[in-house]
Amino acid sequence: MLNIALFGPPGAGKGTQSEKLVAKYGLLYISTGDLLRKEIASGSELGRKIDEITSAGHFVSDALVMDIIRKTIEANPHVNGILFDGFPRTLSQAELLEALMGELHTRFFGVLSLEVPREELISRLINRGKMSHRSDDKEDIILERLKEYEEKTLPVAEYFKRKGNFHPVEGVGGIEEIFDRLVNVIETNTQAK
Ligand code: AMP
Repeated sequence: MLNIALFGPPGAGKGTQSEKLVAKYGLLYISTGDLLRKEIASGSELGRKIDEITSAGHFVSDALVMDIIRKTIEANPHVNGILFDGFPRTLSQAELLEALMGELHTRFFGVLSLEVPREELISRLINRGKMSHRSDDKEDIILERLKEYEEKTLPVAEYFKRKGNFHPVEGVGGIEEIFDRLVNVIETNTQAK
């Protein structure tokens, strides 16, 4: 199995690149952001709570995230691997991911991290907010989300750097160009092992 986490701040292009990686390698795509939005759209009580938290630009609890991930994996037992988008975002989620890999008798390839300068991210997100009307793409919320990302997720990057399976990839350029960079990292590192 090829289990990857595609990592990057909001607006880094994780969604677009995920779709392409999933198609190429036959992976189960798990975007925790999408799963949370699905729960919100269902109109459930849980969805209303998630909406309050994510609309303010904050993270939902690790327990809730693990719960929706487990349910998705259980519903899709026969896959070539998993592509996580937007997960793990905290140190405890990183540890929970490794425990989960052990339970599934598989290993974690590592993190592919899309690197995009802050100014570029802010302008991309403001444009996306104008088109999508996502409640979390307004400018003050964008700054809150980037701050939250930087504070909480950078330790996760450090964690995987220490383990030697953190792969930074330049996230500026054409879609195909960035995709080729990602594939190159996967091919190089799976051949080596
Ligand atoms: P995303 O679409 O990945 O940017 O996620 C949208 C929002 O959902 C985030 O800003 C968080 O509020 C929440 N969220 C998504 N994934 C996670 C996660 N792994 N842990 C905690 N909160 C998350």
